[in-house]
Amino acid sequence: MSDESTVSLETGQVAKVNLLGLSGSRLGDLFEELGEKRFRGTQILKWIHQMGTCDLDDMSNLSKPLRTRLATIGEVRLPEVVSCQDSVDGTRKWLIRVEGGSCIEMVYIPERDRGTLCVSSQIGCALDCAFCATGKQGFNRDLTTAEIIGQVWIAANSFGQFVPGAPRRVTNVVMMGMGEPLMNFDHVVDAMNLMLDDNAYGLSKRRVTLSTAGVVPALDKLGDVSDVSLAISLHAPNDALRNQLVPINRKYPLREFIDSARRYLDKMPDNRRKVTVEYTLMDRVNDRSEHARELAELLRELPCKINLIPFNPFPGADFKRVTNTALNRFRDILHDEGYTVTVRTTRGDDIAAACGQLAGEVNDKTRRQARYKRRLEKQQVIKMIEA
Ligand code: SAH
Repeated sequence: MSDESTVSLETGQVAKVNLLGLSGSRLGDLFEELGEKRFRGTQILKWIHQMGTCDLDDMSNLSKPLRTRLATIGEVRLPEVVSCQDSVDGTRKWLIRVEGGSCIEMVYIPERDRGTLCVSSQIGCALDCAFCATGKQGFNRDLTTAEIIGQVWIAANSFGQFVPGAPRRVTNVVMMGMGEPLMNFDHVVDAMNLMLDDNAYGLSKRRVTLSTAGVVPALDKLGDVSDVSLAISLHAPNDALRNQLVPINRKYPLREFIDSARRYLDKMPDNRRKVTVEYTLMDRVNDRSEHARELAELLRELPCKINLIPFNPFPGADFKRVTNTALNRFRDILHDEGYTVTVRTTRGDDIAAACGQLAGEVNDKTRRQARYKRRLEKQQVIKMIEA
């Protein structure tokens, strides 16, 4: 799957380029190939991402013959919104179908002073973290740049943000939906560049956050091409525990991950920036005082703030939410050790839109989803017998 034109093996027909996923510079190349001026690329970019116009015929500053020629090679193809649910707390969740039939989920979380869009990067996830619903769905494929930026387009459109003079409702984007963004490096970087581009969504680098479970070589590469905000999913203060919770830790252990996050910060010109450390708290798994103290020690050399996430349950999960007592104790220890600590309030859990609850409809290419379903069925049977 790519954003460029592809030849279908079945029909021999050339699929048109999806203009939605192209940068201003790639669009410029396209116009040059048509014997036109490069700046037309910027014009198209603004039509699509600032005015929300997807029909080439409506792009009135391009001549009719040019629009006709462009239409022979390109078009704007948006992913399809299957459904959209609103939580009592204002959180909104979309189910979005992408090419091939699978569905991904996207969430919007309004707060007093901002609106954060949580965007997916893959259909399912290959990492299989023990406490995450997405991992249980298995993995289908990476999303294309168009499918990633298309999510931002869909949200902006649904809030009427493309109407001239309308307020910006999507003020922040976090790559914290389904998937591991660093496993889909090129498409994620291209999509984030569109989020940052002043001729597209124009978000500042502080308002676009990539979250990773620790794909160290890709994180090192990211620092060479991007300066978005970084969040790292730790969830455990030592390798023995993290190996159980986040299997990729067996390949890239904690020390390597944290050093790589530090290198990422060191590459930024602005030396006041901090990494956000995400730590999902699960009852009697990683919520003890010793864990908090070990975490404080581990993070000593990393400029960071710590975001504690009470575990969000999903059907068949092996874990329970941290108790309030343990949560407060954990927070206080880190605070006393000198860290800035925030607790992520659970949002949208009535519509299964909270962290780690995104499941979508993944046409799984691994055996994981089938295994998960068998387990759920077994649990149901046990519950019935017990009732
Ligand atoms: N793969 C990336 C992006 C996912 S972000 C990453 O791991 O960072 C989603 C965040 O929510 C991650 O920190 C993830 O570990 C956390 N999370 C996953 N399942 C959760 C659950 N059930 N409850 C609370 N947080 C969860």
